[in-house]
Amino acid sequence: MVDFNDLELDVAQVRRHFPILDREVHGKPLVYLDNAATSQTPESVIQSIADYYRRYNANIHRGLHTLADEATAAYEGTREKVRAFINAHEHREIIFTRGTTEAINLVANSWGRANLKAGDEILISRLEHHSNIVPWQLLARELELRIKVIPVDERGVLDMHAYRDLFTERTRLVAVNHISNAFGTVNPVAEMADIAHRQGALILVDGAQAAPHERVDVQALDADFYAFSAHKVYGPTGVGMLYGKATLLEAMPPWQGGGEMIKTVSFEAPTTFADIPHRFEAGTPAIGEVVGFGAALDWVGEFDLRLIKSWEQRLLAHATQELSRIDGLRILGTAPHKAAVISFIVEGAHSQDIGLLIDQLGVAIRTGHHCAQPLLTEFGVDATCRASFAAYNTPEEIDIFVEALKRVIGMVR
Ligand SMILES: *Cc1c(COP(=O)(O)O)cnc(C)c1O
Repeated sequence: MVDFNDLELDVAQVRRHFPILDREVHGKPLVYLDNAATSQTPESVIQSIADYYRRYNANIHRGLHTLADEATAAYEGTREKVRAFINAHEHREIIFTRGTTEAINLVANSWGRANLKAGDEILISRLEHHSNIVPWQLLARELELRIKVIPVDERGVLDMHAYRDLFTERTRLVAVNHISNAFGTVNPVAEMADIAHRQGALILVDGAQAAPHERVDVQALDADFYAFSAHKVYGPTGVGMLYGKATLLEAMPPWQGGGEMIKTVSFEAPTTFADIPHRFEAGTPAIGEVVGFGAALDWVGEFDLRLIKSWEQRLLAHATQELSRIDGLRILGTAPHKAAVISFIVEGAHSQDIGLLIDQLGVAIRTGHHCAQPLLTEFGVDATCRASFAAYNTPEEIDIFVEALKRVIGMVR
């Protein structure tokens, strides 16, 4: 049995911060196990966004009035919180985006177009989310780049020997996730960065699943680019960030034009661009959401990611133990280092049916390809069920989920 008693994380207290956890679904208490798709939002984050709209809603940077100053201070304040959260060297290395997806598209379109040419090679892992595949495929088609795939073994662990062997003198970039959203595999990104750098390539790390579960230190990882979304770290949707080393960002051209990103605009002389980070933040950003992003990082800081991680690891161990006892259930992704994500299939039962029926019992899990079709194809399936955990989940919820799953399997088989 997994012991939950010696931990400092007071889960009852954590749960009180999340109003949505009190709701019912189909007359049953909500058991929310879809955290890898989006996490729930604590009251302090909801309040911070409401407070922005109630008290200091104004456009940022250009205003010379009190509300604009306050909004700018809050917006830039989040930039500093993000910097501290990932231990970046400088706050100008943090660019606000709509999320991980937009951050990766920014690198592909700005850095990629400026630095890549026909025949250059990009290494992408088999574990990637579509948002770290498709932007590179679009670019590759246009610039005639070559994409090479880092393979995984039967546990869903990257093959590091194959990784080393994929490098050639044309390899320019490695694009890899820190933690797989489909299988939960934690990748050795510091080691991968070291290998990439020795080969003269850069590394972009998709940290969408790492930010909620691990202490991220971009300097220790030596990542050249790092991306994550606020909505998977207890923050609002529609906002996220790209970290880039200052020397790289400074040399990169803008990718979207508009207000906020220029120094001077002229028809007679060349338009000049703002310094980083503003060069990459064209137009009015999601100011209220950025404020909420900051509040979410404050919330995580209050509870300490190390405690949250060790709580989630016990939830993972407990769920793995219980699910393994179910006849005909197979867990996909059995890496020794995993985050709190379990993908599974059940013999004789469609994942879609399981997802729909278990929702009737109040349990929210995700079914489908999890935006990782190349990975599922490799394992010979087109869909799995996925349960993923957050700081507010409890062992009792996992027991409810497992009992519900057994009932559902009995119904569909
Ligand atoms: C969710 C996720 C993304 C995409 O994040 P968005 O917020 O949808 O942009 C990318 N990569 C991984 C690993 C994810 O889990």
